[in-house]
Amino acid sequence: MGETSEARGELDRLGRSLREQLVALITDLTPGADLRLLFLDEPSVADWHEPPRYHYSALFRGERPAAVTAAEIASRGAVLLRSAGWDVTTSEVDDGGWLCSVVVAHRDGNHLRIRAGDHTSAVMFSGQTPALALRPPKPFQWPEPVRTPDTVTPGHVLCYECEGLGWCPGCGGRGWVPSEPHGLARCRECHGRRVCVICRGGGELAVSQLSDYQRGHYPGLA
Ligand SMILES: [Zn+2]
Ligand SMILES: [Zn+2]
Repeated sequence: MGETSEARGELDRLGRSLREQLVALITDLTPGADLRLLFLDEPSVADWHEPPRYHYSALFRGERPAAVTAAEIASRGAVLLRSAGWDVTTSEVDDGGWLCSVVVAHRDGNHLRIRAGDHTSAVMFSGQTPALALRPPKPFQWPEPVRTPDTVTPGHVLCYECEGLGWCPGCGGRGWVPSEPHGLARCRECHGRRVCVICRGGGELAVSQLSDYQRGHYPGLA
């Protein structure tokens, strides 16, 4: 809905290019790996800020050939990536007492990482494309109230909490609210239930069932 095919086409192109690069690396560094396990099928949300941004990402485990050390895997990987135009950094990191060789590479906003250690046969490959927005930002449309002073059922009053909206007045029925750090945060008023917690979506309350506390919201009631 509202997805621009241009942006999606560009993201898919980035995903295919990342896949090709990963396949070349995996085939060279860990021959015999089952490439059917390299999943890069659907983009996922990398950033929930409006508009959400999507990327392709993959994590793959290959097996280090017995005759090859982790450091050799890393230096060979770095050579392959540099020759393909990637900006490469290699380092040694301590993984719970074991030394691991790590290759980190960047190219046009893409990110690739290879990690190998002599204590394990696993060689981990991971990669992400840049994150792209697939549609323009969309302002939130506040929903229409389910009850108004004109449509309130006889013997009922508009809900004092949502004033007839029915949906949670904190989030407008989204179940979440925009948040600076993560883009989205679960709504603290309805805890994701989306409807008003007082009227449970009805937008109105039966006068006969109001508690004394609730009557306090309706000073005009007899
Ligand atoms: Zn809410
Ligand atoms: Zn309500």
